[in-house]
Amino acid sequence: VIVIEEVHRYSGLPMFVAGFRWTAGELMEKFIRELGNKRIFASRCPNCGYTHVPPRIRCVRCYTKMGEDSLVELSGRGKLLSYTAIYFELDGAGNFRDVDEPKLMGAVKLEGADSTIFVPLGEVSFEELKEGMEVEVVWRAETKGEVRDMTYFRPLR
Ligand SMILES: [Zn+2]
Repeated sequence: VIVIEEVHRYSGLPMFVAGFRWTAGELMEKFIRELGNKRIFASRCPNCGYTHVPPRIRCVRCYTKMGEDSLVELSGRGKLLSYTAIYFELDGAGNFRDVDEPKLMGAVKLEGADSTIFVPLGEVSFEELKEGMEVEVVWRAETKGEVRDMTYFRPLR
């Protein structure tokens, strides 16, 4: 069993945490495990086609139940819908503290997905960011089957 608590330690990124907390279950476990293989899975509704990442067991649009046979692999590329800079983070004890360098966060719609994920952005400055720009995942050098295997997303070059 994968411990979702891992996600809570991803401090300073409250939206990211929120995005990954509501779908614990077999599909979520597979999603996290496969990140260790540098693969991103989504669940595609067999009824309406809406594609959820991270995978959900119930379609948000038509409430159809989805199982492992609904999983589809995504490319790891996507489009930046919006972004922000974060100047403080949680210290793990419920307090905010200032960060040395602002952290960039983006709402990314992965190719083939209909839902949006909130992810850190890297190798880019705030000034260079543009809505609609193509981005790609940068994997951790040694993946571990954790959400943090997706280190950040960077502009596609
Ligand atoms: Zn559906």
